[in-house]
Formats: sequence, structure tokens, C-alpha cells
Amino acid sequence: MSKNCIMNTYGRFDVNFEKGIGCKLYDAVGHEYMDFVSGVAVNCLGHCHPVIIDALAKQSSQLMHVSNYYWNTTQALLSEKLIDNCDHSKVFFCNSGTESVESALKIARKYGKLKDGSDKNVFIYMDNSFHGRTMGALSVTGQEKYQVDFRPLIEGTRKVIFNDIEDLKKNFDGNVCGIIIEPIQGEGGINIANSEFLEEARNLCDKYDALLIFDEVQCGMGRLGSLFAYKKFSVIPDVICIAKALGGGFPIGATITNEKASTAFVPGDHGCTFGGNPLGCAVGVAVLTELIEGGVIDKIEEKSMYIKDQLLKLKVKYGIIDEIKGMGLLIGISLKIDAKKFSKSCFNKRLLVVTAGENVVRLLPPLNVSKKNIDEFLDILEVVLSEIAG
Ligand code: PLP
Repeated sequence: MSKNCIMNTYGRFDVNFEKGIGCKLYDAVGHEYMDFVSGVAVNCLGHCHPVIIDALAKQSSQLMHVSNYYWNTTQALLSEKLIDNCDHSKVFFCNSGTESVESALKIARKYGKLKDGSDKNVFIYMDNSFHGRTMGALSVTGQEKYQVDFRPLIEGTRKVIFNDIEDLKKNFDGNVCGIIIEPIQGEGGINIANSEFLEEARNLCDKYDALLIFDEVQCGMGRLGSLFAYKKFSVIPDVICIAKALGGGFPIGATITNEKASTAFVPGDHGCTFGGNPLGCAVGVAVLTELIEGGVIDKIEEKSMYIKDQLLKLKVKYGIIDEIKGMGLLIGISLKIDAKKFSKSCFNKRLLVVTAGENVVRLLPPLNVSKKNIDEFLDILEVVLSEIAG
């Protein structure tokens, strides 16, 4: 396989996957890997799930794409399915997480402009957050390493210390149009937002008439044990960003708003050529049906508790694990050693995990992962830990 024509944007492991089934990936020579990355929280039903294959086959033979100048039934069906499961009323479809964040930021700017003229345009964002790579999403991503080479970023942003209510209050005023928060910071190290912090963010948004945006791109779509992550907290946001698992492997994203926020956009304000196309939406409907009606989400808490219990035993036994973090099937193993080296050791045993910050390894198994696969994963992890412990 020639690698010469691919741009150098990822630090990749030296493997080329050609096939996937459920929780397993197979390389070009047929080696089997246990996949606890799931395309970074994308393959929520594992690889090549029959409901996804079926939806793709049926929809692609009927209607694959049609412009948003016209209506299409699958887009309406997916929007209804999403809205039926949250406290919101409107959906804008796009292709990815960063695009769903861009839409949210534009909604907040327009909302602010309509409310209070041109000065109400400031975004508050969190230290250590991750919202994507486009210039808007990057400008509210609180990690210097991602921002440093791309300045000037967009104007009108204020960074706040995650979970620090005093810092939040200090930075909030009438010029703020929106605040963006991951209920659980994924890339930043599996850090859970305090309920009190989210409640204060909600109060300040109400007080100053700004929009509360939750980025659920990684922690949403069932991963925490409810379709929407915000349901695990005591706060309802005005805007929700989703993507990744919504298509189970097919690229689709969406920005969901309450009625108040949805009034900001009028025709011409925003758009997306591929957004909400029939193929992506048909897959989205199939994925949501399986997650909700297929009972996948109902079993997540039990699986989460089992994995965490077993990891705690490994923590005591080998002394390499510092802390087990996270909720549902978004689990972080905080390590006393370098996470990159640890994930390389896992890779050498054909176990795929992904890092989150310097010392945390993220576990993102498919949401329908079986007890058998969890036990296989734990066995490999134990081998890695015992070899490191010497
Ligand atoms: N927001 C969060 C919380 C993410 O974790 C990610 C990607 O990892 C994004 C946004 C960007 O999503 P995408 O890579 O689909 O643009």
C-alpha cells in the first residue's frame, strides 16, 4: 500500500485495517484486533452491523442525495426521532462534529445580534475543551497546542477554568451570546462537569439572555446511558451538538435547538450541501432505532459498572492505574505512566485504545459490546499491565 499521497496530519499506528465485525478489526494479513476505540466513539453498534448495512442498501437504491432546496422524508423522520427524545424542537443537519459546533456558534452569534445589536457576540469556552478543527470550533477549543499555529483565531472569545464557578461569573456579562461546554470533556482527559457548575452556567445564560450550548459530539448518542448526555445532568441546554455515533460510521452531524434558539436562523443564514441527505438520515434512523428500541442504551449502565469494577481490581493488583474516570461507556483510565507508551503496549497486544491527554487512556467500546468481548479486553489489558509491572 502506498502512503505517499496522504497528507501528514495524523500520528498513525503501523497497521492497515481491511475488515471489521462487531468489536473486532482485521488487518491486511488477517490479524485480529480488539477495538475499544470504535473510530473514536463513532461505531456505536460495532463494525458492519446488519441494521446499518440494510439501511444503506435500501436507501441507496431509492434516493441517495437531494438538495436542501427540496424536502426529503428520511430527514424529517430522523429529526422527529431526535426531537421525540429530548426537550428541544428543531434540528439542523451537517456532516461532522466540528460543523455541528460551527452551526451552534453561528446560532448564538445571530441570537445575540437579534437581542442586543452587535456587541452581544462573545463566546465563553472551557479550558481543556475540544470542539473541532475548523476556525470557529478551534477558537473555542481550550488547548493551546491546537490553537498555537493558527492564529489569528476568531475574535470575541473568553476562556474559563472548567468547573470554576467564580471564574465563570467573572467572565459573564451582557456581551456574552453563548457558552459552550462538553458535559464530559473527552479529548481533554475524561473530565466530568460538576452539576453545580452547569446549573450556574444555565442561570447566567438565563440572566443575560445567552445560549447554553452542550457539545455532546463524543459523550452523546447513548454513550453515557441516555440518548442525550444532558439527561444525566440536572440542566437542559438551549443547543446540543451531536455527530460521531449518530451515523454509527456514516458521516452525519446535527445541531439541535430549543424553540427560542431556533428562531435565530432564517433562510440564507446557514447551510450544508450534504447535510441531512437521505442516505445519512436513513442510517441515522436505523442507528437510533437500534440504540433505543433495540435496548442497547438500557444495558450501558450495567456494562459500565462491570468494566469499572474489574478495572479497580487491576488498579489494586498492579499499581499502574491511578484512577478510573468517566460515565457509561466513556471511561478513562488515568495512569501513573505515559498514556501514549501504554496505548502502544496495548497495540502490540492487538488491543486498540486511544489517549486523552498525557496520562489518560480512553475506552470507547461499541455500545452493544458483549460481556464476552469485555472479558477478552480485560484479559489483554491485564497482560499489558503485568508486563509493565515486570
Ligand atoms: N466535539 C467533540 C467533543 C469531539 O470530541 C470532537 C471530535 O473528537 C469534535 C467536536 C469534532 O468532531 P469531528 O472530528 O467530527 O469534526
